[in-house]
Amino acid sequence: MLETHRLTKTYSNGVHALSDVSLDVGPGLYGLLGPNGAGKSTLMRTLATLQLPDAGTIRFGDIDVLSQPDELRKLLGYLPQQIGAYPGVTAESLLERFAWLHGNTDRKGRRREVMELLDKVNLTEFRSQLVSTYSGGMLRRFGIALALLGSPRLLIVDEPTAGLDPAERDRFHRVLADVAADALVLLSTHIVEDVEHLCGRLSIMSEGRIVAEGTPAELRHPLEGKLWTSTIPRGGRLPEALHLAARPNGTAVVVHADKPPGQSWALREPTLQDAYHAALREQLSSPS
Ligand code: ADP
Repeated sequence: MLETHRLTKTYSNGVHALSDVSLDVGPGLYGLLGPNGAGKSTLMRTLATLQLPDAGTIRFGDIDVLSQPDELRKLLGYLPQQIGAYPGVTAESLLERFAWLHGNTDRKGRRREVMELLDKVNLTEFRSQLVSTYSGGMLRRFGIALALLGSPRLLIVDEPTAGLDPAERDRFHRVLADVAADALVLLSTHIVEDVEHLCGRLSIMSEGRIVAEGTPAELRHPLEGKLWTSTIPRGGRLPEALHLAARPNGTAVVVHADKPPGQSWALREPTLQDAYHAALREQLSSPS
């Protein structure tokens, strides 16, 4: 179990990147969803002991993370937004070197760990290829293999799917789901599809605060019977909407209201995307 209590961070430029962030994260895959600038990376770096908050506490099981960062580091795997450039070295050889740095000095044991990790992230076939020639998706999966060295109990993955094509994203999701069977995986993203079917629970973050938390179904539930949709022809007056999307024949509009705004409106089954928009809108209309 990973628990944060009232984490706060204000950068020297005055930006409140974290305001009273309290979270209880259980086993499996947990999502942290929010727009750019919400504070996700600040939170992930803080949890990964790469930076300190101004106030608050973090516990992982029995470990008081802020006073015993080295204890957490023994159990931690961290995949940053960008992994380093490693020219002229194959995936297999690079992973071997890092496994050695991780303390796996037994040659046979190290070899076994490297082969198991390459298999886990579906890169066995490409193990002799230079890492510098990997595609974006392969690099992300290779990053997961690096982060999994030493079998961490906590894996922190910061915005891993930006720039991946849909097939690569699916492959990456499957790897994460697999890892989450044995470890707590915390995944930050601004893409709703990353968390919708993958994460048992998630938090929605905006402007340094957690504005909603729960399972995808719990987050959708308050909107049931309150979403209405219609396509407004081009040039027509657009109502105040939860969200809008361009269509060939006009603009598809979703409105959050107790009653339909008019005759041509149909009830809409809420999606997590709707819940995300509603949570962000609520935060913006009642900043504290
Ligand atoms: P996210 O990962 O959700 O995009 P970040 O944690 O990167 O959010 O950023 C949160 C806010 O803090 C943003 O306004 C960002 O500009 C600001 N910020 C992030 N890092 C720094 C820093 N090192 N110094 C000053 N401001 C920062």
